[in-house]
Amino acid sequence: MIFKKEHLENLPETEKVILPVYARDSLKTKVAKYKMEEESMLPRTAYGIISDELILDGNSRLNLATFVSTWMEPEAKQLMMDTLDKNMIDKDEYPQTAEIENRCVNIIANLWNSPDDKDSIGCSTIGSSEACMLGGMAFKWKWKEKMKKLKKSTDKPNLVMGMNVQVCWDKFCRYWEIEPRFVYCEGDRFTIDPKKAAELCDENTIGVVCIMGSTFDGSYEPVQQVSEELDKLQKEKGLDIPIHVDAASGGFIAPFLDPDLLWDFRLDRIKSINTSGHKYGLVYPGVGWVVWRDKEDLPEDLIFYVDYLGGKMATFAINFSRPGSQICAQYYNFLRLGKKGYREIQQTCRDIALYLSSEIEKMGPFKLITKGDDIPVFAWALKEETNFSLYDMADKLREHGWLVPAYKMPANRQDLVVQRIVVKNAFSYDLANMLLKDMKKNLDFFSTQKGFIKKEEGHHFRH
Ligand SMILES: *Cc1c(COP(=O)(O)O)cnc(C)c1O
Repeated sequence: MIFKKEHLENLPETEKVILPVYARDSLKTKVAKYKMEEESMLPRTAYGIISDELILDGNSRLNLATFVSTWMEPEAKQLMMDTLDKNMIDKDEYPQTAEIENRCVNIIANLWNSPDDKDSIGCSTIGSSEACMLGGMAFKWKWKEKMKKLKKSTDKPNLVMGMNVQVCWDKFCRYWEIEPRFVYCEGDRFTIDPKKAAELCDENTIGVVCIMGSTFDGSYEPVQQVSEELDKLQKEKGLDIPIHVDAASGGFIAPFLDPDLLWDFRLDRIKSINTSGHKYGLVYPGVGWVVWRDKEDLPEDLIFYVDYLGGKMATFAINFSRPGSQICAQYYNFLRLGKKGYREIQQTCRDIALYLSSEIEKMGPFKLITKGDDIPVFAWALKEETNFSLYDMADKLREHGWLVPAYKMPANRQDLVVQRIVVKNAFSYDLANMLLKDMKKNLDFFSTQKGFIKKEEGHHFRH
């Protein structure tokens, strides 16, 4: 936020400036907070000021709200530091970083069973949001091509998805002027309904989005069933509707833990898939990936060619410059862990999620919405009226340093408030047990507070 001049002038003196008083004379000067100073300072002073301020941030290892990696091995960290100076978009200058990106795309396409008889194509992005935009844009352009051939109007494209989609899909629809068509939650169903999704489709539908790992409760959407309903629709009405799978978190879980589940390119209707390398790809933020089943599924119009080793390299991106570090770190994980390592880490996360959810259920006042057996993420609600709300539980856990968000389920079930935990790599049984202890302590506290006025609304960020 940008402060008005007047607001800054009226601030008390002590809030306008930083006073880095360490035991050195040179550090006794005041430093403006909201304006650039005329004078320079020593590197150590600048470092000290900023790292001191950051003490006030939450501890990322106790952040059970975020899906994004909060731990990497020291060697991976070192590699990231070593490569921070390389702009990954400069493919000509850094051909080896480009080669490593390409190897990652190959490895990921392979994990998602890209068909041998097709030319799959993909790229890295800053995260799943950009990757989803690219998937959605490819759908819009393909649909436009099709409609133009049929001499039909291209004025009213729509996209079908569950009401539980991540906010990037709302953004995609608004920025690219596409009508979002939502399958609403109903009763205990908080994800897409395959039949209802097919019913919402018409000739203006550019595609259907399925989510592997709903952010609201961690459940996989029934991709295969949606695909089958769309097969039926094609037989009955001749509409051929493609699917994009938003596997932001599940893209690195299902291939290792649920290899028999059909959700990827083994289903013909799946034209593109995205994932976040910085979620269960186990890399620090920000890297995402998107792969198309076949280069035919990515309209030529959207591709830009950049010079690459004297040749031309196809790129498709919204963003331009970005460090090469995350890509190198992704490749590090692939080399270092192998399939066995990924499987072990993801299985441990799932085991801990299942352990935590069962212990939370045993506490009494809570009922599980999910247990954490799809992606290692689960949510619970209150069984019945109590003298505290889940917003209060979230606040109270924060006193112990834990970030465990409470929020409302999507439209049509906004009456239901849930709390959610995302279990990530390096969240150990030790930490899980400490969290359980703190939750029990909080329950004891609430039970002694006869006149406690509970919070009916909260503002916990859900991601
Ligand atoms: C996290 C998430 C996103 C956004 O991903 P970023 O990598 O944070 O941009 C999109 N969709 C789903 C299902 C997600 O879980």
